[in-house]
Amino acid sequence: MALKIFIGFVLGVVAGLICRALNFQWFVELSSILGDLFLRALRMIVIPLIFSSLALSVSQLGDISRLSRLGGWTIAYYLITNAVAVTIGLALVNIVQPGFGTMLSEGKPPDLPPLQLKTLLLNIVPANPIEALAKGEMLALIFLALLTGATLLTAREVGEPIHQLLRSLLQLTMIVIHWLLAIAPFGVFGLAVRLAAEFGLAVFLPLAKYALTVIVGLTIHGLLVLPIFAWLFGRVYPFNYLRHFAPALLTAFSTSSSSATLPVTLECAEQAGIRSEVRNFVLPLGATVNMDGTALYEAVAACFVAQAYGIHLSLAEQLLIFVTANLAAIGAAGIPAGGLVTMPFVFQAVGLPVKGMALILPIDRFLDMFRTTVNVLGDIVGCAVVQRVFAKRGFNE
Ligand code: ASP
Repeated sequence: MALKIFIGFVLGVVAGLICRALNFQWFVELSSILGDLFLRALRMIVIPLIFSSLALSVSQLGDISRLSRLGGWTIAYYLITNAVAVTIGLALVNIVQPGFGTMLSEGKPPDLPPLQLKTLLLNIVPANPIEALAKGEMLALIFLALLTGATLLTAREVGEPIHQLLRSLLQLTMIVIHWLLAIAPFGVFGLAVRLAAEFGLAVFLPLAKYALTVIVGLTIHGLLVLPIFAWLFGRVYPFNYLRHFAPALLTAFSTSSSSATLPVTLECAEQAGIRSEVRNFVLPLGATVNMDGTALYEAVAACFVAQAYGIHLSLAEQLLIFVTANLAAIGAAGIPAGGLVTMPFVFQAVGLPVKGMALILPIDRFLDMFRTTVNVLGDIVGCAVVQRVFAKRGFNE
C-alpha cells in the first residue's frame, strides 16, 4: 500500500511539473478535483471517527482512575515532545539566522482573525454541541467524546445501547477507511499534480535558507528525537516500528492534514499491534492537539520575520515565543494551513507585526507537508510510548 501511494505521489509531481511547463491547465484542474474528492472523503469521516474512537477508548478503560492515568501520560508525552521541538527550532533559527539580510518583498498580508486564548479555552466547552460539531470545532468534539466515554464508564448498564451504537459506528467507519485506502494512490496523485504545478521551483529561491532551517529542524526532530523517544520510552526499534506507518506518513505529506490522515494512522496502528484503547485515545487526541512540527515551525517563522525586519529578540522574548508557539500548536486545527491561523497569536505576544507573515506565505503550503508529517509521526511514536508505560504499570490486564 505504501509503495502504491508513493508511486502515486511521484507520478503526480512529475505530471504536475510537466503540466506547468506545457501549460496543461485542464489536466491540473481535473487532477485537483480527484485530489479534493479524496481529501473531502477523508475529512467526511473524521468527525464520526474521532467521536466514536475516543469515546470508546475511554469507555473501555474500566474505571476513571485509569482514564486520568492514560490522559496524564499522553498529555505529558505531548507537552514534552512539543517543547523539545520548539527548542530545536529556536536553537537553529538563532544559529543559522536565515532572516538577517534577506531582501524580501512583502506580499499581501494574510487576512486572519487574531487567535484569542480566552476564546480558544471557552470553545472547548460547547454551549451548543450540535452547532460545534457542524462547524467541525475539534477541541469541542474531543471534549464531548471524552465526556461521553466518561459517562459510559460510570453508568455501564444505562449506557449499553449507546456503547453498542458507538462500537458499530466505529466498525462501519473502519470499513469506509479500507475503501478509501484502496483509492488513496489516485487521490495522492491528484494532490501532488496540483502542488507541483502550483509551486514550480522559483518560489523557493528567495526563501531557501528559511525553508532549509525549518526542514532541517523537522528532520532532526522526526528522524532523531522522536525515534529516540520510541526506542527509549516505547521500547520499539524505531525504523521497524515506523515501517508499519509508511502509508500514514505519506498521506500526511500529501494531504497536509493530520485530521484527514487520522483514518489511515489508526489503520496502521492496528497493523503495528497497538492496543485498541491506546490507539483510539492517543491518535484522535494527538491529531488535534499534538503538533510538534507546527510548534517548531511557528517558532522559526516568528524569529525569521523578526530577523528580516531587523528586530532583535531578547531571551525573555524568545521564551515568550517558546510558550506561545506551544500553545498555538495545541490550538491549531489539523487541516492544511491550520498552523497559519494560530500564528498571529505568537507574533502578537512579542509585538511582531502580523503583516510580516506575508513574508513566509509563498512557501507555507510547501512547508506544511513536512510539518504535518512530523505532527503525525509524533502521534505514532506517542502510541508506542503510552502503550509501553501502560503495560509497565500493570494496566495491561
Ligand atoms: N497542517 C498541519 C496539520 O494538519 C497543521 C499546520 O498547518 O501546521 O497537522
